[in-house]
Amino acid sequence: MISSDASHPINGAPRGLSILGATGSIGTQTLDIVRLFPDRLRVHALTAHANADLLVAQALEFRPNCVVLGDETARKTVEEALAGTGIRVLMGSEGLCEASTLPEVDTVVAAVVGFAGLEPVLAAIRAGKRIALANKETLVVAGALVNQLLHTHNATLIPVDSEHSAIFQCLVGETAHSVRRLILTASGGPFRTRPKEDFARITLAEALQHPNWSMGAKITVDSATMMNKGLEVIEARWLFDLGADQIDVLVHPQSIIHSMVEFTDGSTKAQLGVPDMKVPIQYALSYPQRWPAPHERIDWTTLRALDFEMPDVEKFPSLQLAYAVLRKGGTAPAVLNAANEQAVALFLNEQLRFVEIPRMIEAALDALPVTEATYDALVQADAAARRLVLEHARAVVH
Ligand code: NAD
Ligand code: MG
Repeated sequence: MISSDASHPINGAPRGLSILGATGSIGTQTLDIVRLFPDRLRVHALTAHANADLLVAQALEFRPNCVVLGDETARKTVEEALAGTGIRVLMGSEGLCEASTLPEVDTVVAAVVGFAGLEPVLAAIRAGKRIALANKETLVVAGALVNQLLHTHNATLIPVDSEHSAIFQCLVGETAHSVRRLILTASGGPFRTRPKEDFARITLAEALQHPNWSMGAKITVDSATMMNKGLEVIEARWLFDLGADQIDVLVHPQSIIHSMVEFTDGSTKAQLGVPDMKVPIQYALSYPQRWPAPHERIDWTTLRALDFEMPDVEKFPSLQLAYAVLRKGGTAPAVLNAANEQAVALFLNEQLRFVEIPRMIEAALDALPVTEATYDALVQADAAARRLVLEHARAVVH
């Protein structure tokens, strides 16, 4: 039997939320869910990197205890706009960590993009919070450390990423030893059918056109290189405590099956739905309950086919790189993640070609030593990989 309402807000009080990365794709959709359930969810903190106007509008609507801003230049605008409201304006990573640990916050929605999301998640874990985790980079970089701290501090991670939410839902009521393997589905991105010979001509605009999902720029490029699926394999390894050989990737262009679990007795469970991140975001907030909501349903009268194919590792080498670092362990996944973040940032600035992204990552992995994954070593590996990609990119351009 699925569990009771035990972990639901005490005495029917709303669940207190801190939304890190509130102005992004996941953040704004989280606020859409809060609008649907004003009696069940209450926002206490909102954070943004630089989008002051949206942060102010969100703060005036949701009236949190505090907002946090990354970019110092927007500080004055936000402080003036919120003067007299009682809403505190905090800054930088210190502010993010405060937002993650406020006593009135029950659940931290971790929706900052990239390595910058790691520190506030670690702070939330140390404060024993429940974390609705969208920021997959946290687990890619520091999965072992995160799991160790979760255990020590009695904190909980609930996945927001649609594939991991699907697996999490398939595992309700199951025991770990009955799982044979996970099958992560992938849309294949915008270049699934494009011949490899044409990859050298891929433009930024093309890479930003995802066929099924509307997301932030970094993850959209990750989906186009299929590094997103590689990061998700690593994310799954730590979330579900399985080895790399128990996590497979299957291309499913319709993005209706969000992922599957194959059990030891030959049975397979899948979770299906239209591609809409609001569903897994809401589940991470309502778990173990399900709350009725007007999200779009699958129309079985028009759905004609669910197709599957194996990923093309020649066209998308990033996937193999992710499996390789998972097997290597230590700081190797942190190097992969940082090299990818830096290469994608350069591609988004049109300073690097699409095909150079996996080459940059491979070069960083070849050049940097793998050491034990302490927090300090992870921070150093992240910085070293970024520096190396910047150096290599300068060499490619000139
Ligand atoms: P986004 O770029 O739309 O939003 C990122 C948010 O983080 C913004 O609020 C931004 O202000 C903030 N931010 C950016 N850099 C920051 C920094 N250095 N310090 C503090 N805040 C910073 O990104 P997104 O698409 O919402 O993705 C967020 C995370 O969720 C990513 O890790 C992504 O992989 C994951 N995710 C996203 C989706 C999706 O559908 N968008 C799906 C699954 C997982
Ligand atoms: Mg995903």
